[in-house]
Amino acid sequence: MKVAKFSLRLTLFVFLASATFPLAAQNNPAWLTPFPAFRIAGNLYYVGSQDLGSYLIATPRGLILINSSFEASVPLIKKSVESLGFRFSDINILLISHAHDDHCSGSEQIIRLTGAKYYVMAGDVSVVESGGRTDFQYGAQKAHHYPPAHVDRVLHDGSTVSLGGTVLTAHRTPGHTRGTTTWTIDEAENGHVLHVVIVGSPNVNPGYKLVGNKTYPQIAADYERGFAALHKLPCDIFLGAHGSYFDLVEKYPRWKAGDNSAFIDPAGYNAYIADREQAFEKELARQSAAKK
Ligand SMILES: [Zn+2]
Repeated sequence: MKVAKFSLRLTLFVFLASATFPLAAQNNPAWLTPFPAFRIAGNLYYVGSQDLGSYLIATPRGLILINSSFEASVPLIKKSVESLGFRFSDINILLISHAHDDHCSGSEQIIRLTGAKYYVMAGDVSVVESGGRTDFQYGAQKAHHYPPAHVDRVLHDGSTVSLGGTVLTAHRTPGHTRGTTTWTIDEAENGHVLHVVIVGSPNVNPGYKLVGNKTYPQIAADYERGFAALHKLPCDIFLGAHGSYFDLVEKYPRWKAGDNSAFIDPAGYNAYIADREQAFEKELARQSAAKK
């Protein structure tokens, strides 16, 4: 009897889990694991989960949010924003790292709840407006679709986003998606200016065709262009679309213990970009050799 009860409960749990959360999130529980919100530097705050990076920039004219993550992430982000003493409804501008479901599925919901304007990099605009259906890799996979959201402003490489005296710069670092965006912002902390880099994603996902890609012919050249751009960015504070890029879980306890330099990590940034570039080159060489 006990066994039957347990298995019924398990079935119910699996059913509920699959109904509420996207498949990928079930395989990556850290994506929906709540994480404490905290101030990183200046007016920049962490409001994401344990592994899905979301960032809040607080200005006297309202809030900017980077990454809406999954639909199931929105209540977590809202709670984080409110725990810092801000109003979720004050989000005026919504930005993303790139048009994959784990970073932008909640956009339609956030725009509906807050009236925020959605600014997206050229190359990712049709993807978010089609709910992921025009993505070069995952477009045909229903599991990666999400509610379409209207884009109010199309960004280009070097575009700036300004609100209440704060300026963010959008760097097009394509390859992972056509419009993958690395955000930079300068933050003043203890009289010093700190260059913040929020990496969009330099990763080659499993199954990506770097050679002879019919839906994204210039993908390899785009990755190379992206790495060249990332190498040029001055970085003091290293952040990214996923907490795992910059070791959020390892660095946070140091921050909590009072070390406000915990996220200052230029060496970590350079090492991460070099490592990802090497992985890209290795995969490109492997695919090129296989084609011959
Ligand atoms: Zn992605």
